[in-house]
Amino acid sequence: MTEPITRLNAMRSTLRRMAGLCVLLAACGGEDAVERPAAAAEVDAEAVAAAEAGARGLDHIRFLSADSLEGRLIGSEGNRKARDYIEGVYRSLALSMYEGTYLDPFAFQVNDETREGSNVVGYVEGTEQPDRYIVVTAHFDHLGVRDGEIYNGADDNASGTAGLLMLAEHFSANPARHSLIFAAVDGEEGGLRGARHFVSDPPVPVADMMLNVNLDMISHNDSVLYVAGAYHTESLKPVLDAVASASAITLRQGHDSPDLPRGDDWTMASDHGPFHEAGVPFVYFGVEDHPDYHRASDTFETINQQFFLDAVETVKQVILRFDGLNRP
Ligand SMILES: [Zn+2]
Repeated sequence: MTEPITRLNAMRSTLRRMAGLCVLLAACGGEDAVERPAAAAEVDAEAVAAAEAGARGLDHIRFLSADSLEGRLIGSEGNRKARDYIEGVYRSLALSMYEGTYLDPFAFQVNDETREGSNVVGYVEGTEQPDRYIVVTAHFDHLGVRDGEIYNGADDNASGTAGLLMLAEHFSANPARHSLIFAAVDGEEGGLRGARHFVSDPPVPVADMMLNVNLDMISHNDSVLYVAGAYHTESLKPVLDAVASASAITLRQGHDSPDLPRGDDWTMASDHGPFHEAGVPFVYFGVEDHPDYHRASDTFETINQQFFLDAVETVKQVILRFDGLNRP
């Protein structure tokens, strides 16, 4: 068993003990507690389950952005540790796999030298339209070590990868109408390599991909999460409007128009770009660049934990609402 899975299991059993304690405390809490209606107990159980899931999500960020992973540069040992960790979580959730493996390796050239990266891909079959797919992506690679300094990449993009794992956990227990593919992609830094590979050699026909949901930097802000994509696919706007009106954070649409100043149009800025080029609608979730962006200070300590949890919940609501609709 790999270290991360041991950690995950240890955390799960701790949380289970905590949950048991909560139930015990409620039961021993005097007459009020005993007489509480069943609905209140259900709400408590839901809150405890959500807190447990959130703790696991934060633990994913903590692990992926630890110094021991040395910034997860594509092809490095730290990158492989991240890949193994993600694979271990997929396995623990019993995500379905294509061709008997979660790993989808690809080669690329750097100065006449052939190097390798690998996406980590699993899926949850849909209950009503299994041949139509929503593809969730997040890149797990980052910049590695530069001038002796580890670029931990907590926000960029341990946060999006952790969000992807939380969504995989939710939807593996509660399958959606459409199938959901979870693609943790490699090599975003330096050319969207993993996403380009996924789209050019896809596990299912690109024409059957209804939507790409890309997460890249979702933990480093106090209130505003951007979502790009509706400029290109107008039918997504009402979906995003509805989720925004009920979100704990501000979900702001934008950063997707070619009329914006250079750099402000994020249409090709992350792994949703190759999907867009292939004609797949996308929603990209991310925050504005910040002082720790692509710096050694992008660490677990500088993210906003509550913002991250609210962001993941917001993305989940977008998927649920979109899943209730047909192809836009
Ligand atoms: Zn990134």
